[in-house]
Amino acid sequence: MAELGFGFLRLPMVGEGPEKQVDLDAGKALVDRFLDAGGRYFDTAYTYLDGGSETALRECLVERYPRDRYVLTDKIPSWKPVSYADCGRYYEEMRARCGVAYFDRVLLHWLNADHYDACRKNGGFDFLRALKADGKVKEIGFSFHDTADVLDAILTDHPEVDCVLLQINYLDWENPAVQSRACYETAVRHNRKILVMEPVKGGTLAQVPPEAQALMEAAAPGRSPAQWAIGFVRSLPGVEIVLSGMNQPAQIDENMAAPREMTEGELAVLAKVRAILQAEKAIPCTGCRYCTSGCPKGIVIPDYFKLYNALQRSPGDGWKIRPAFEGLKRQAGAPADCIGCGACQRSCPQHLPIIDLLAQAGAALEK
Ligand code: SF4
Ligand code: SF4
Repeated sequence: MAELGFGFLRLPMVGEGPEKQVDLDAGKALVDRFLDAGGRYFDTAYTYLDGGSETALRECLVERYPRDRYVLTDKIPSWKPVSYADCGRYYEEMRARCGVAYFDRVLLHWLNADHYDACRKNGGFDFLRALKADGKVKEIGFSFHDTADVLDAILTDHPEVDCVLLQINYLDWENPAVQSRACYETAVRHNRKILVMEPVKGGTLAQVPPEAQALMEAAAPGRSPAQWAIGFVRSLPGVEIVLSGMNQPAQIDENMAAPREMTEGELAVLAKVRAILQAEKAIPCTGCRYCTSGCPKGIVIPDYFKLYNALQRSPGDGWKIRPAFEGLKRQAGAPADCIGCGACQRSCPQHLPIIDLLAQAGAALEK
């Protein structure tokens, strides 16, 4: 039965620009709420919030609760170390930032074909194997963003891997760029534990068009769209953990109450909802922000995509969306500032054609 995990990526923030940082008081309240509700699994990564996720986790969780009260996973950035010794330096920095003696799981972060090549050179898998052999970690694995063929090759090469963290949600189930279903079936075939990220697709499945909402409400009165989305992945056999990046106390209560099983009739409802969402032509950005740090023009790409999607869904709300657009342009680079360098596209786990989409969003929002 899949357990809900707390992904420490989308935390509440305070301040603007370079002063922006995790709201630690709000983070502590979220951690308390999650543990009180019976949660115990936390997930972070070296690169989340430029290291701010790990330090916030130390202050909100590690320094306030005994180590046996929670299970903790951290991720080494698979593409950054240049050698085996460098993997060790990242690992020690992760431990120091989090303030823990050990992690329950250590994963290589964001494997795809290119980053797998990097791991062959830097010895990332050798490093994980040694950690486990030395008893420093209970389980090892990797998070993954590529095709099922690449996943099959990596799992075949590495029988020592205990678990794999996959992007699975009902909207991406047959998406050829994400391949949720094919990757899930590959992991099942290799008999590995499955951890799930993006079950609500960065929050985008928490709000669905009225037509879809009506279908959901008729089938299960009172169940929210986010609960439908989490219920879908929770009901998949072999899924052990479903991560959610929660930033409001009510989200914790809502997500914890998501169903653990789905009937054939409920899956048929989700198939209809998927068709409605696919016809909507929203930009399928999850808001992970992997694309923003490398942008030489400081363009807040996901924030523009979010405004564009809001405008698509509710054209009548243009009067309040456009001032938000002007505000963003004052604080950061504008879509029109894009020089087409492509750095963002190389960083996008969703393989979005960001340059074209940014131009499309900018044109719509400027009107
Ligand atoms: S292509 Fe445009 S948006 Fe993307 S990183 Fe380069 S300047 Fe930024
Ligand atoms: S455009 Fe891609 S990398 Fe950027 S926030 Fe959206 S999904 Fe993440």
